[in-house]
Amino acid sequence: MAARIKYRYNPDTCKYEPWYLQGKALRNRILIFLGISFMVGCATYFWYRHNYSSFEEQYLTEENNSLQVEWSILEQRIKNTQVQLLSFVEKDDKNYRVILDAQPLSTTEREAGVGGSEKFNLREIKDFPKVLRGYQQIEKLKHQLTVELQSFSELKRLTEYRINMWASRPAIQPINNKQLNRLHLTYGTRFHPIFNVYQDHKGLDFAAERGTPVYATGDGKITMTYFSGSYGNVIYLNHGHDFETRYAHLSGFNVVPGQRVKRGQVIGFVGNTGNSVSSHLHYEVLYKDQHVNPINFFQQDLSNKEYEKLIEVGRKQQNTLD
Ligand SMILES: [Zn+2]
Repeated sequence: MAARIKYRYNPDTCKYEPWYLQGKALRNRILIFLGISFMVGCATYFWYRHNYSSFEEQYLTEENNSLQVEWSILEQRIKNTQVQLLSFVEKDDKNYRVILDAQPLSTTEREAGVGGSEKFNLREIKDFPKVLRGYQQIEKLKHQLTVELQSFSELKRLTEYRINMWASRPAIQPINNKQLNRLHLTYGTRFHPIFNVYQDHKGLDFAAERGTPVYATGDGKITMTYFSGSYGNVIYLNHGHDFETRYAHLSGFNVVPGQRVKRGQVIGFVGNTGNSVSSHLHYEVLYKDQHVNPINFFQQDLSNKEYEKLIEVGRKQQNTLD
């Protein structure tokens, strides 16, 4: 379709001639057009900005939402870890330390060094209280964990010490006494069967045939094996933790000085050497270099009933054999 052409009457030529916008009229028309276009453009822009976010804003909003979700998950994990750590702390204080007879850690010891916020640049995150709180919680958690790990190392050391102590402590009879008839209750002052005078008898005698195996009554280290006029062949066993045991009148040794032995290990054999009236084992227990009654150190070997019977039979056999 052809463009519409305007015509105007020209009195000079007495004709209708095509008429075109030109000069001032053309310029005004263009300015009006540009002005209206500009206003429409601005209106469209502000309307769009008012009703729709930019792509960048949409992207940031999505990222922000996702960060908030991640932050809540992180906070939940911090809380779970705090609960788990607290259960360890309770077990530490109320179980392990009670069993091992150790003092619970005080609040001061557990909280010492917790402050946290000075360790990072406050200016960077002071405007983000949520981040600051999370950071402080993690710092506190890290500290509590370090204290707890140190505490567990200490408990491990204590446990190993106790295990070693109980393994070392004399706790069984030095010879097989299933029938409970070998013990002569002879600790204390008694009439010496050879010298016929009253003397202190610092151990217990077990009547047994020559060659009967003699056991170490706790873990330890053999300090001496030698022959003495009174003890005959004798073994000294150092258990550490201030305990020592001695085994006398042996027919022979099964260990050498310096050797480490375990509870129940055969260290020698019953005999009748030294000042002894018949084949038997003379057994002594020393604590801090003082003799103590070995009767108190058979607990791992006997039930309560067996212990009572051992004492009952032992009382009928109060004659010493050395
Ligand atoms: Zn004796």
